[in-house]
Amino acid sequence: MQCRPGVPSMPIEKTDTLVVGAGQAGVAMSEHLSNCGVTHLVVERHRIAERWRSERWDSLVANGPAWHDRFPGLTFSDFDPDAFAPKERVADYFVDYAEMIKAPVRCGVEVRAVRRNVGRPGFRVETSDGVIEANNVVAATGPFQKPVFPDMVPDDAGIMQIHSNAYRNPAQLPEGAVLVVGAGSSGAQIADELLRCGKRVYLSVGPHDLPPRRYRGRDFVWWLGVLGKWDVPALEPGTEHVTIAVSGAHGGHTVDFRRLAGQGMTLVGRTESFADGVMHFAPDLADNIAQGNANTLSVLDEADAYIVRNGLDFPEEPEAREVGADPQCVTDPILTLNIQEAGITSIIWATGFTLDYSWLQVDAFDEQGKPKHQRGVSAEPGVYFLGLPWQSRRGSSFIWGVWHDARYLADQISIQHQYLAYSPPA
Ligand SMILES: Cc1cc2nc3c(=O)[nH]c(=O)nc-3n(C[C@H](O)[C@H](O)[C@H](O)COP(=O)(O)OP(=O)(O)OC[C@H]3O[C@@H](n4cnc5c(N)ncnc54)[C@H](O)[C@@H]3O)c2cc1C
Repeated sequence: MQCRPGVPSMPIEKTDTLVVGAGQAGVAMSEHLSNCGVTHLVVERHRIAERWRSERWDSLVANGPAWHDRFPGLTFSDFDPDAFAPKERVADYFVDYAEMIKAPVRCGVEVRAVRRNVGRPGFRVETSDGVIEANNVVAATGPFQKPVFPDMVPDDAGIMQIHSNAYRNPAQLPEGAVLVVGAGSSGAQIADELLRCGKRVYLSVGPHDLPPRRYRGRDFVWWLGVLGKWDVPALEPGTEHVTIAVSGAHGGHTVDFRRLAGQGMTLVGRTESFADGVMHFAPDLADNIAQGNANTLSVLDEADAYIVRNGLDFPEEPEAREVGADPQCVTDPILTLNIQEAGITSIIWATGFTLDYSWLQVDAFDEQGKPKHQRGVSAEPGVYFLGLPWQSRRGSSFIWGVWHDARYLADQISIQHQYLAYSPPA
């Protein structure tokens, strides 16, 4: 670098490992790096756990009870462990956690570009606050980075359209009916909230898993834990688009699409297309509802078998197997809907997210732009991913799971340190 005479050049800041993002993943990574004695810095463009504060709706509570949806090193103080923490409380928890472990987090710093150094190890990281050099970079920027929804309904159709990450509360929507597309946890909970506040709601239901909230005295997170389901390493082929519908709202309850229909919600199948003011839905609603119930029953069967095998004295709960009759909207499904005639003035797309690593300009991606990695260790030496969906198992993108993946990555980084520290005897 050339400097003008008399102007001292700014020394470039250096760290061993730069963690990008201070959500739960970045905080967990910091804890394990510290435990391994790795010098590091965590940079966060906004605030710690920002997405819990500003990219989720007002009434959101954690999907898992407080005893489960946390890191091992800290409980939610003054909070019923079986209750579901409100989103602000979850964000505060991570702020407290970062403080407890003295995580070196620098907020308000955005990483704009990461490039490998030429002819020497490490990376040059351009941030909104200058350049940082690092031997390793951990991308902890989240499993759900960029909202996706199909470019289906034109902007001039006269309908308000938002993604679930921009939904806050019912008051935000115009008068009239609303179509919620997607019936995973977000879509199902948002549709329920809108129905409760008196809105006319259409809910487009695709394939979904539907675990019971509780069964025989235990929450489903417990059952998934003891049955080894959080640790399942990969989705079965063909089930990639199956979402999971659970809710911690109102004390936690099993999502029940038939009950919602009984309360006045209109269920429709997968949203397929829009033309001339008419929305078209796939004829798959009955199938999706039936598959969801089959999933519930399979969890109950496995739970019963676990209880018998271990001789546990858990209360019987035969009513958990009762399935109500299909409502009319399921037996005689709507396949086309004139938006104006139905009075629909808004659409909420609860259709998921995609990744955006445009800032990470290294050789760690396949042709589709997906990270190439093994358990988060990328194809580019020194680059690590954390918090990806299914990074090592089903639990990877969830609070408790990311902590374990972070431990693995910190271990991998210190193993590399050991190799690099070796020098052969003279
Ligand atoms: C609606 C919803 C509800 C959920 N509920 C639960 C739940 O109840 N329990 C559970 O276990 N999981 C839940 N999850 C899943 C998961 O726990 C969350 O998505 C969680 O936020 C993921 O944490 P993370 O740290 O991996 O990523 P994020 O929370 O997305 O954090 C990434 C951070 O990186 C920062 N960042 C991004 N790019 C840059 C950059 N270039 N430079 C600097 N900083 C950057 C962002 O500002 C952000 O703070 C939920 C997810 C959603 C969408």
